[in-house]
Amino acid sequence: MSDFAQTVKQQADIVKIVEGYMRLRKAGAQNYTGLCPFHKEKTPSFSVHAVRQFYHCFGCHESGDVFSFVSKVENVTFPEAVRIVAQKCGIPLPKREFSSPEEAAEAKLRMKLLDLHEAAAAWFEEQLRGPEGTLAREYLAGRGLTPEGIRAFRIGFAPDSFNALRDRLSGMASQETLRASGLFASKEQGDGTQGPIYDRFRKRVVFPIANESGRVIAFTARTLETGDKAGAKYINSPETVLYSKGSVLFNLDKAKTAVRQAGFALLVEGQMDCISVYLRGIQNVIATSGTAFTEHQVALLKRHTSNVAVNFDPDAAGANAAEKSIALLTEEGFAIKIVALDGGLDPDRYVRERGVEAYMAAVRGARRQADYLIERARAAFPGASAEQKVKAMNFLLPHIRRMPEKLARDQFALDAAQKLGIDSAVLREELRQAALRRRDHVETKTTSLTEVERVLLRALAINDPEFEESRRMAAQAIAAEPAHFEHLGSWPALQVLAGRGAADPMDAVGEAAQRALLAEALLAETRPPAETEVRSAIQELEERAIEGQQRELRAQIAEAEQRGDFGGLALLTQQKLKLDLALRNLHRTVADSL
Ligand SMILES: [Zn+2]
Repeated sequence: MSDFAQTVKQQADIVKIVEGYMRLRKAGAQNYTGLCPFHKEKTPSFSVHAVRQFYHCFGCHESGDVFSFVSKVENVTFPEAVRIVAQKCGIPLPKREFSSPEEAAEAKLRMKLLDLHEAAAAWFEEQLRGPEGTLAREYLAGRGLTPEGIRAFRIGFAPDSFNALRDRLSGMASQETLRASGLFASKEQGDGTQGPIYDRFRKRVVFPIANESGRVIAFTARTLETGDKAGAKYINSPETVLYSKGSVLFNLDKAKTAVRQAGFALLVEGQMDCISVYLRGIQNVIATSGTAFTEHQVALLKRHTSNVAVNFDPDAAGANAAEKSIALLTEEGFAIKIVALDGGLDPDRYVRERGVEAYMAAVRGARRQADYLIERARAAFPGASAEQKVKAMNFLLPHIRRMPEKLARDQFALDAAQKLGIDSAVLREELRQAALRRRDHVETKTTSLTEVERVLLRALAINDPEFEESRRMAAQAIAAEPAHFEHLGSWPALQVLAGRGAADPMDAVGEAAQRALLAEALLAETRPPAETEVRSAIQELEERAIEGQQRELRAQIAEAEQRGDFGGLALLTQQKLKLDLALRNLHRTVADSL
């Protein structure tokens, strides 16, 4: 690790950094827990150690420091993780070092593209305020947006020009980089090469799309034209080094704090819906941008909440994407409520026409997904005939099967049977089967450490000079009598730690399973073990070793007696007496030390 990385690591607080990405709850004097961002789970097995500055998951056994966390969660290289953490801590960046030229080149390109997007966003904003932006301003005002709202979301305007933005940015980067930004388009030429670049967004209202840290990484642009000339209503940035549509949730950067405070996220489909609702004070709102959720987006959301209120467009156009999103969220164990707005209004129109109070009431009155689905099944297949009931049930079964928790499936099945008036034993059985059947995934493998091992692991992991004697004592005992320790499950870790020198304990233990044991011991501790604790742990092992030898001797003595080998017997008895004495002495020292 470079000096700079070391400096950053010393100044960064892993708890604060991790909290920027997911919910954490204080779980002990020194540690916090939350739902693991690296594997699917319903109960938290992910822990962060506030003092030792590492994280560990008891479910998937991922562990590491602040940099490995950021690099995994953001899917960036180590140097980039260092840079991100440094920025979050306000530590100025030195000239960076990269492990490979490719890495350096990509990081450089990303930085450049961020700069270009920032410059483009600022320029679009400027255009909206300028004389050419009149029509766009009128459009936005017509949608109920105030100048403050426009500023908050950095909404801008792309003028009717093929080269205005290009000319503006061409001094900042090479043609190749401009091409890679996605801000420009080009036409394929006769020889198969790409022609010159021109502005992708023209005569459109432009909405920046930000990543979780609030940096602009793409744009979506709405046409102001009507009729044949208009083209697509919305066009978006293409996939670039910065932007992947399936990995971004619109407004998550602004909403994440409110999502955690409210305990749920309000999901809407359109960006305009999202902006409109947010600006009226409901800040835990994010948008899916009209397409079905990806696993990546679900994972992103899961870091902040497992509860969503879904307010999707009830009409057919969005229904399919909405349905898929809800299905995926269900599979991932989200608790889902469905917001239904009367009058078939979308959230934007609803808040504007009925007011934010009415909208909040609708969100509060959202129904559990199960109730909502049963209601839909009843409406779609009305009547009391057996045929209708079967159809209604067939509609519900896949939804029931999708729920990861048996309890929820049981309840759903029960409710469905009741509300649909299903009294046929056969149909009830089918519902019951649906509730029973369900894959269960990754289960937490519990590691078991004895108390003695916990004390030794903690002693060997001591960094505090005040407790140095405890550490030294444990290391010496291991060096002196390795045989006393070798049978322990955590022996490999103990051995490594005993000789770790100044290395960080979590870094020193390379093997994942052993590191998991160490993490388990460290996460449970409130302070380093005192010398007396270490001494009695060492003595307990010594005692066990002597007792083992005694057992062996007793067996040998019994054998010698049977054989009538009195010479051997005398020798063995002598040895046994020595052991008995050693054990007594040991007990005495233990008593003295207490
Ligand atoms: Zn995990």
